[in-house]
Amino acid sequence: MAMEFLSLGKVVICCFLLWGFLVTGQPSTEGYISIDCGISSGYSYNDPNTKLEYISDDQFIDTGINYNIAGNYNTSAVIMQNRNLRSFPDGDRNCYTLKPVIPGRKYLLRARFMYGNYDGNNSAKDDSPILFDLHIGVNFWEKVNISDASGQYRYEAITVAVAEFIQVCLINTGGGTPFISSLEVRPLKSNLYPAANASQSLVLAYRVNMASDTTPVIRYPDDPYDRIWIPLIFTNSWTAIDTTKDIKDSKDDFFEAPATVLQTAVVPTNSSSPLKFSWDSEDVNTEYYAFLHFCEIQELTASEKREFNIYRNGDLRIGSYSPPYLSHDYVYSVSPMYGYANYNYSLNATATSTLPPLINAVEIYSLMLLTENMTDLVDVEAIMGIREEYQMKRNWMGDPCAPNKYAWDGVTCSYSASASRITALNLSSSGLTGHVSTSFSMLKAIKSLDLSYNKLNGTIPDFLANLSSLQILNLTGNCFTEPIPDVLLKRSATGFLKLRIDNSTNKCDSPHVITPKKKLTTPIIIIISVVPVVLLALAVVLSIMLISKKRQPGLVSDAVSPHVEEVPVRNMDLEEDKLRPESKEFTYLQLVNITNNFTRVIGQGGFGTVYYGYLEGSIEVAVKLLSGWPSQGMKEFVAETQNLRKVHHKNLVSLIGYCNDGEHMALVYEYLPEGSLYDHLRGSTGLARPLSWRERLQIVLEAAQGLDYLHKGCNQPIIHRDVKTSNILLGPHLEAKIADFGLSKAVLSDAQYVSTVSLVGTLGYMDPEYHRTLKISEKSDVYSFGVVLLETITGEPPIVQGAGKLHILERVKPMLNRGNIEEIVDRRLRGKCNVNSLWKVLELAMMCTAEYSAQRPTMADVVIHLKESLTLETSFVG
Ligand code: ATP
Repeated sequence: MAMEFLSLGKVVICCFLLWGFLVTGQPSTEGYISIDCGISSGYSYNDPNTKLEYISDDQFIDTGINYNIAGNYNTSAVIMQNRNLRSFPDGDRNCYTLKPVIPGRKYLLRARFMYGNYDGNNSAKDDSPILFDLHIGVNFWEKVNISDASGQYRYEAITVAVAEFIQVCLINTGGGTPFISSLEVRPLKSNLYPAANASQSLVLAYRVNMASDTTPVIRYPDDPYDRIWIPLIFTNSWTAIDTTKDIKDSKDDFFEAPATVLQTAVVPTNSSSPLKFSWDSEDVNTEYYAFLHFCEIQELTASEKREFNIYRNGDLRIGSYSPPYLSHDYVYSVSPMYGYANYNYSLNATATSTLPPLINAVEIYSLMLLTENMTDLVDVEAIMGIREEYQMKRNWMGDPCAPNKYAWDGVTCSYSASASRITALNLSSSGLTGHVSTSFSMLKAIKSLDLSYNKLNGTIPDFLANLSSLQILNLTGNCFTEPIPDVLLKRSATGFLKLRIDNSTNKCDSPHVITPKKKLTTPIIIIISVVPVVLLALAVVLSIMLISKKRQPGLVSDAVSPHVEEVPVRNMDLEEDKLRPESKEFTYLQLVNITNNFTRVIGQGGFGTVYYGYLEGSIEVAVKLLSGWPSQGMKEFVAETQNLRKVHHKNLVSLIGYCNDGEHMALVYEYLPEGSLYDHLRGSTGLARPLSWRERLQIVLEAAQGLDYLHKGCNQPIIHRDVKTSNILLGPHLEAKIADFGLSKAVLSDAQYVSTVSLVGTLGYMDPEYHRTLKISEKSDVYSFGVVLLETITGEPPIVQGAGKLHILERVKPMLNRGNIEEIVDRRLRGKCNVNSLWKVLELAMMCTAEYSAQRPTMADVVIHLKESLTLETSFVG
């Protein structure tokens, strides 16, 4: 094998999928999906040539209309799959959901199109083609361009499945009604086509078998992956040669060209001429990969020699190359080429060669970057469950959030560098019947859920109270028959959930009454609105008895008149911002209540002890009781807190309030039940269940996003100054949040502390440049984050106590120089992760910890690198 550009070096293929052959001798078709779009529902047949079974598309899509191509186009040259089609006159985006597929596995995807005047409109002309876009999932695949009504068009891509399904979407771009004739999915072994991975797919431009034009098209069963190899010979300047001899099994190479393809080749007819071929680039910026397949098929005598140089656009790419006898070899691009309007290859015999150059097959692919993030897979599963349960039609196809333009009706999403999340769902007046689907319980990022004016019945499930992000829940106008669960009432009483519900008996067939625990005699409208946390804090101090006797205005009320419902239901999610509690002041007495007299210690830090606490209404908090903190420092901190209030991000720990009561100083934070990254890497949590590499990557990526957000700041960058694994806290699903930001600034601004440099940062994490210059910048955080990355890879502390006190950088560097990643990586990860992804993060850690800050990346760069590493790891089938 020869590589055109770089050495693959670090590429290590960790696993090979089993590839079985049926006892019949035919290659296995396990995992094949062959769909003839537009045939009658439930119908299937075996293709006369390949014998592969094709099935109708009705189980993969709900929309569209079936058509046959016009009789005069239905000639014997038209393949079975192109004789009918499904057309999509309605909707901007129509999507097929192809399953089952295995997440992380590589697939060849093929879509075919033949217009055949199916609609009698005589469209698809040279001067007025039918144009529409094809997407794989959320990313653009191809612009379909049908300019010949009798043309049989084929588009192919190699892509890695990221979920248990692959979606193919047809996008109406205003260039005519999209339609499709067939779809095929073929699993590939994971080591094939290394350029296709979780962050990029390959789109086929050409796949040709250099052979005489009487050679049949080769595909399954000759090619177990069902690639289609079209014979190609360029006029009489080439001569085709072939052999019937066996070609050595080409298993486990990167392309596995079939033997029948390798048994033919072309040589220049004039043996002293070079062998040339070329193609025009779609666009100079299109990035291409070329895979050239070689196999010597002539037995050379002792005096014969076939040796040639391979040039591309005049540059020598491979020198003195001789294809191996009866075995497969290839020359391929490791990185994509771009910048030319035309690519031309020339194979020139060397001076000592006695035979002309030869080539057996060529594949050219363009690069498809997967830039658009799909929605979090759990959110997708949830919304798909909801769609299924309530038989939702609307435009609910493809990804629910992305691309933004095609987000599902009623679904609002947040878009971030990692994945989109569903944050609001408006299913008001959607004709929902039956119970509240359990799928709603999976929408962990949802803030606003509007199920009003449907015919939902039965109980209001408890799980709605456990949706930790939920701030607005509208259940008005349904037919619930059971009481509002206590947990939901409690949650709303805290002010963190705005609950709307009424009995609306008129909407339901059978009479029913909403019965809150205390029986109500008159029809009620309950508006449980958000109360500021100041009320909440008061509520903590006041006894439950007091609260139940005399409710605060805005809390649950059975006496609020209907006109209070002024907030337009559909705009409720616009209020989200107002719902954010301000950080509020607590008295020491309140803290005593909150922490049950400081009974449960959850951690000990440099600034004091951290206690577990509980605010009325099921809100867990962490109370950091500061010891030896100067009052001036607290003032600064409070001021800083108000600034930080503007800085909200899902990857930053929220500050709920503070206490500055006499000698008692404390901070009240949202509680993160999974402790810190430190705990998981080296604490008892980590010993019980070590974090996988994927989990570690996800955590550091989220932490990086939090830091990046801080660095971008509202008006000016916020530098954390104490980035370390114990300041990366973890939520119930290991979601990472940065803690303690802003704290060091408050300390620093106190005159007494200016000289206490050691307070600004922790030993082992401190930026050496800051040490030298005492100038702090965002890059100081980047350095500390680099140390966090090294800890995450190695599982080891920044400084090993004992003789020598070697810093992690000094320990890692020599091993890195030896290129031995096995030595570096946490032994609990060995053999269980994608080595390329590990390398990438290791390189990133080294960049972050560069001696001089100018050499370090920004946190935004770090986020991009970590995302890439995560996608590499996600595509790894371990
Ligand atoms: P230092 O104060 O020196 O920076 P530190 O970050 O470890 O060190 P703290 O922030 O006081 O110190 O936290 C101590 C420990 O308490 C943490 O490691 C963590 O396990 C726990 N902890 C802190 N805040 C929370 C929180 N919001 N939720 C859950 N646990 C927390």
